[in-house]
Amino acid sequence: ARPIVAIVGRPNVGKSSMFNWLIGRRVSIVDPTAGVTRDRISSTIEIGNRHIDIMDTGGMGIEDVDQLTEEVERQIRLAIEQADVIIFLVDSRDGVVPLDEEVARRLRAVDKPVICVANKCDYPELDTHASEFYRLGYGDVVRVSAEQRKGKRELFDAILRRL
Ligand code: GDP
Ligand code: MG
Repeated sequence: ARPIVAIVGRPNVGKSSMFNWLIGRRVSIVDPTAGVTRDRISSTIEIGNRHIDIMDTGGMGIEDVDQLTEEVERQIRLAIEQADVIIFLVDSRDGVVPLDEEVARRLRAVDKPVICVANKCDYPELDTHASEFYRLGYGDVVRVSAEQRKGKRELFDAILRRL
């Protein structure tokens, strides 16, 4: 079976944008899978010469705070059950917010490699801001911008190192 890389993070950090970006231009095989739940979307991409399944775990239209916690729990559960590597996505424009700390805490119990990725690093100033994510406890933070399509190589290298 192909390794599965799951994108986990609170709503609005750009999980779906990143998913679409990563399966975009460098896709050799596109294999969209309607998953077991309506929220699970995955697609096969080639990194180096390895095929991996990338998975967008995010739900849609989360409205209130109670639902936020449920959404995080659901994502972590999916990641625990299915992923080989977890991308913990955060938003460099917002910096660390309490729900990121909650995700970080929950991921601590998961015995799988976690890569902390700061999205929305559209400009160099936001790169600097992204350094505060080190305190989430996941080591080196990979800086990307799904919108500007920046940082893909660094991200792919980070994934390959964990496979
Ligand atoms: P999700 O809820 O985590 O799946 O987040 P989405 O992918 O739906 O994105 C949430 C919002 O962030 C949307 O308005 C996106 O256009 C925006 N967004 C995503 N990636 C970037 C980025 O790299 N830079 C900026 N500035 N905005 C982004
Ligand atoms: Mg989404």
